Amino acid sequence: MNIDFHKLGERTKAVHAGEFPDPVTGASAPNIVMSTTFVTGVDSGFSVEGMDDDTAWIYTRWGNPTIAALEKKLAALEEAGAAIAFASGMGAVTALLFGLLKAGDHAVISDVAYAALAEITNEMIPALGIEISKVNTTDLNAVEAALKPNTRLVYIETPCNPILRLTDIAAVADIAHRAGASLAVDSTFATPLATKPLKLGADFVVHSLTKYFGGHGDALGGALLGSAAELARLRKTTSIRLGGTISPFNAWLIMRGIATLPLRMKTHAENAAEIAAFLESHPKVKRVIYPGLPSHPQHELAERQMQNYSGMLTFQTRGGGGNGDGIAAARKIAERLKIIHYAVSLGHHRSLIFYLDSGELLRTSFKLDAPEQRESWREFAGDGIFRFSAGLEDAADLIEDLDQALAGIKCYSK
Ligand SMILES: *Cc1c(COP(=O)(O)O)cnc(C)c1O
Repeated sequence: MNIDFHKLGERTKAVHAGEFPDPVTGASAPNIVMSTTFVTGVDSGFSVEGMDDDTAWIYTRWGNPTIAALEKKLAALEEAGAAIAFASGMGAVTALLFGLLKAGDHAVISDVAYAALAEITNEMIPALGIEISKVNTTDLNAVEAALKPNTRLVYIETPCNPILRLTDIAAVADIAHRAGASLAVDSTFATPLATKPLKLGADFVVHSLTKYFGGHGDALGGALLGSAAELARLRKTTSIRLGGTISPFNAWLIMRGIATLPLRMKTHAENAAEIAAFLESHPKVKRVIYPGLPSHPQHELAERQMQNYSGMLTFQTRGGGGNGDGIAAARKIAERLKIIHYAVSLGHHRSLIFYLDSGELLRTSFKLDAPEQRESWREFAGDGIFRFSAGLEDAADLIEDLDQALAGIKCYSK
């Protein structure tokens, strides 16, 4: 069936793109093809070199009908030429880095980004002879100043995990391209319902499908998206050979999750906005950061770049500084919460909360040793922050749960 899904609305794409009734049984829901190998004719080759879109299924690490269906759905939603699905978000990130960078290259990486990316770009990637500059990419002058003749890649995350700082995608794309570098955007927090980085000039988008796309906290997955030509090259050079292939079962679960992604994102954002407003007026809360709040330092950019403010927010309790008060507050809150789960991850139907100690994160994952880098983090996010992922429950119940949990902490007036 040849339907041009790219022309259809977001909700229609989410339900239908990549899927079709089973030609043998007429099944309306897609089958899961768990087979790792496929019976082929003797003429099919064994090397990935000659592979193209018309090559028959051979082996699931090279391609699989269920995974391909997910990839088509992802590409339709992100308005990308193509997508490759991976076993996790980090599988997608590492395929991109290993596929693009070689010894002697330089990359500019957001100084605050997903912790595992921060960690591999601190040690493992530089050990391969690839030079990395960590930059606060909200500062366009700093991005420009960091570029070198050998800069191959600029990598940003917006809104960034965990502090919800934003980066102007169109402006950074322009700066990167003028220097001959590509721009990659981790858009996990935004989802295509909020922002489509490729339309703003980015060359690659990465997602952790484990979060909003899957949406139910039961399947790890990742995706890399971009132009059809670049993705065909990366599929051969990295995805197939490095082997971070997603299980067809997870691909199927995530595809089922995506059917409701547009509806869920609307509710995630509505709940987050209500909770952000509640927390902002709470006497025990010092600061709330949510892109949808006028108090977000980059609210104007959020309005310009995000069609939906997503479901992630952070807050700081009064006295929750680096002197242990924050940890004490986190213990109390974790102990008292009835509905909200105290757990890492995000984007699930269940609301999740997790406390992040700035001092520890800055020391370990981020290794932001320069005083101005530490200062810029502290100024934006404060010291101890609670990261909250608004789920799909009733906002009133979530607010009541947070309110009774906050009632348990000592209020330090400041
Ligand atoms: C979770 C996350 C990742 C990593 O994804 P996994 O599926 O856990 O490997 C990458 N980037 C962001 C912004 C994330 O939140």
